[in-house]
Amino acid sequence: MVSLTTTMRRLGIITVVTPTLISSTAAFSRNLTLPSPLRNHGLTNSIRLLKSRSLLSSLSCFSSSSSAAYLPALDEFPSTKASVAMRDDNKKVILKGMSYASLQEWVESHGFRPGQAMMLWKRLYKDNIWAENVDQLEGLNKDFKRMISEHAEFGALSFKDVRSASDGTRKILFTLDDGLVIETVVIPCDRGRTTVCVSSQVGCAMNCQFCYTGRMGLKRNLTAAEIVEQAVYARRLLSHEVGSITNVVFMGMGEPFHNIDNVIKAANIMVDENGLHFSPRKVTVSTSGLVPQLKRFLRECNCALAVSLNATTDEVRNWIMPINRKYKLSLLLETLREELSSRHKYKVLFEYVMLAGVNDSMEDAKRLVELVQGIPCKINLIQFNPHSGSQFIQTDEDKMIKFRNVLAEGGCTVLMRFSRGNDQMAACGQLGMLGAIQAPVMRVPEQFRTALKASV
Ligand code: SF4
Repeated sequence: MVSLTTTMRRLGIITVVTPTLISSTAAFSRNLTLPSPLRNHGLTNSIRLLKSRSLLSSLSCFSSSSSAAYLPALDEFPSTKASVAMRDDNKKVILKGMSYASLQEWVESHGFRPGQAMMLWKRLYKDNIWAENVDQLEGLNKDFKRMISEHAEFGALSFKDVRSASDGTRKILFTLDDGLVIETVVIPCDRGRTTVCVSSQVGCAMNCQFCYTGRMGLKRNLTAAEIVEQAVYARRLLSHEVGSITNVVFMGMGEPFHNIDNVIKAANIMVDENGLHFSPRKVTVSTSGLVPQLKRFLRECNCALAVSLNATTDEVRNWIMPINRKYKLSLLLETLREELSSRHKYKVLFEYVMLAGVNDSMEDAKRLVELVQGIPCKINLIQFNPHSGSQFIQTDEDKMIKFRNVLAEGGCTVLMRFSRGNDQMAACGQLGMLGAIQAPVMRVPEQFRTALKASV
């Protein structure tokens, strides 16, 4: 007979674990070896090809073998259509890049009534219309439609492909105007919840060592329209197959807070009650720990927050998440403690990818209990998903359960998540496409070398 745990694992159910409940595991990531030119530190020509300053700083650090020198670049990445809702070439506005207030202003500036702006807004986002061209704007008057077709565009993305994993997860690939490709994942769940995981950047500058996307380096930020369109398109393409898409997570390609203007704008469009109308509690933005942006997010957006923690000491976090060298664990956690103290019923979700011999000891579990003291939170334990080329090894299920039990006994609420979409590289941390140049593998602290795969 198939056990309940096995059945739940197959279904990919997220299990909430209170101190009295037991359950098990899930997924993550991918890592690659560097191409030989980088391995040999022959970087000069390669560096010329890099566009991202962050990647440059990574490589210079790698070439000197000085892991202490590495920090992701966090200053404003040169905006490529950053918060603009207008195409450069023909000066048409991109409708999905506008908040409702901006849309209304734009409609009125063309001599039409605010009520018509609302009708347009609803056809873009509501009532299963999700209009993608002017012909789908049923009920709007002719003059208004003509003005829209002359001065506005509907889509920000071009559909490229959809891939279905054996567990029902779908990965949608979109081509952007400049030819770059992003990925969006739709994850159905049998309990009436379907989640769309959206990307916020092409690639990522953060170079988390367990993440495939991080190996790409950062190509560019996505506009608000390009982010919103992922959710709209997922509904349009898959709602009839997977049912209503109820949740959004900003856990696709990119560090959302590295593109915070557009992420906040997109999140606010997604929760607008006359539009897509996701519950703010069901729109979760995840960060690797950019402290100033985290504060701003909590003040300007009422959506949910997830923090990718993954370590209980600065030593380990500095290595596997280089952003920690700029914003230490103590600063990150103290900021959360302070910022959340005045918020009613708001809990941050800590994500913790478990890496064998690196961050999964019982001492880590006890430290984690201490670290999160005073922070209203849940902890999501994620089983690392090893594959060819990755240097980390999966924590076994028994150990994860013991780890989880220590947290639960310490009074934490713990979730355990199963991998989804693995066979199509659609699982957490697996998105993107590596180019010839990749972000560097960071120097492994001496005491963890035996915990990694010998081949790397
Ligand atoms: S885990 Fe997130 S923040 Fe870290 S490299 Fe991957 S996409 Fe970027």
